[in-house]
Amino acid sequence: MAQLLILFLTLLIGAVAFTGSMLAYGKLQGLIDDSKVTLPRHNIINAVLLAVLLVLTVYVISMGSQPALIWIVSILLIALLYGFSFVAPIGGADMPVVISLLNAFTGLSAAAAGLIYDNNIMLVGGILVGSAGIILTIVMCKAMNRSLFNVLIGGFGDNHKGKKEEGEAQLAKEISCSDLAVQLYYSNTVLVVPGYGLAVAQAQKVVKRMDNLLSANGVDVNYAIHPVAGRMPGHMNVLLAEADVPYPKLLDMEDANEAMANTDMVIVIGANDVVNPAAYDDPASPVYGMPVINVWDAKNVVVMKRSMSPGYAGIQNQLFFHHKTKMLFGDAKSSLEELNDELKTLES
Ligand code: NDP
Repeated sequence: MAQLLILFLTLLIGAVAFTGSMLAYGKLQGLIDDSKVTLPRHNIINAVLLAVLLVLTVYVISMGSQPALIWIVSILLIALLYGFSFVAPIGGADMPVVISLLNAFTGLSAAAAGLIYDNNIMLVGGILVGSAGIILTIVMCKAMNRSLFNVLIGGFGDNHKGKKEEGEAQLAKEISCSDLAVQLYYSNTVLVVPGYGLAVAQAQKVVKRMDNLLSANGVDVNYAIHPVAGRMPGHMNVLLAEADVPYPKLLDMEDANEAMANTDMVIVIGANDVVNPAAYDDPASPVYGMPVINVWDAKNVVVMKRSMSPGYAGIQNQLFFHHKTKMLFGDAKSSLEELNDELKTLES
């Protein structure tokens, strides 16, 4: 009976993690639209699926003998379906939490398989991955200021989009690379806020070159790291480490927000949701309540991105229309290369 219980645990958790991860991958790659996979009252469907799955599993285990193949296949299919359905309504800014949770599931499934095969390495490895995933899930929930229950049950299936239309009617001010270079060159303190667009443009080494040019002129350059910036936990830390940015220059969100009022210039590079003031002032927004980097508290803000398109959560950002903000449109790497050329001319 215990052996059967472990077998079904492995099967259930593994199957849920498999289809859930496939769907999460599709969503992150932009291949699958949240609204196409979410049904009305999706959470009720999930609750029913989970109940059927659990009842069926308990029934088959309680039979005691080796279960017929048809039972195993039926449970596997329902678990695969549940994995897909479980991730379907979760979207927008909540994705980091579900990704960490699926990560934990894979570890737990491997640990359970380790018990079946009497393989200690698999068991210990699985427990490590599972517990690391659970810790990360808790950290991500904290970073999003949401409870796990709220993420899983609250969902983003409502597709509320905040003040998108209102924002579209407004005008954003632009800045040129040469003007930005002058402003940066004569600043005392500069804070870089990296986001997913920095990773897309692979601009981390060019940012470091900009940092070197400014630091050589006595400008204090630091980086504000939001815990869910990018598309995976720790994404920005990995990216900047690759460019040899010294670790002490990376400020976590709380320290960055404290330093903001004394910052002459903030450069937001390919970040969007993590600097969205709707987190404070738009209760209808999917990012409402999520801690963000308060870049608007700095003296000046420049946002580098290619267009006015929204970020991952699919919502417009009022920061782009803020009186302190100027936009520098273009691919982050090309813009930064041009900016570095301008900085070099100021140096000579
Ligand atoms: P966002 O996804 O909010 O915004 C990224 C911005 O980068 C876009 O608005 C885009 O604008 C811009 N961009 C894209 N390519 C380029 C480029 N080549 N050059 C310049 N800009 C570019 O990113 P954030 O990092 O601010 O926020 C992360 C979001 O992802 C959050 O909603 C988070 O919840 C979610 N998420 C995070 C995960 C994690 O574990 N960290 C996992 C899953 C989701 P444009 O197209 O106009 O250039």
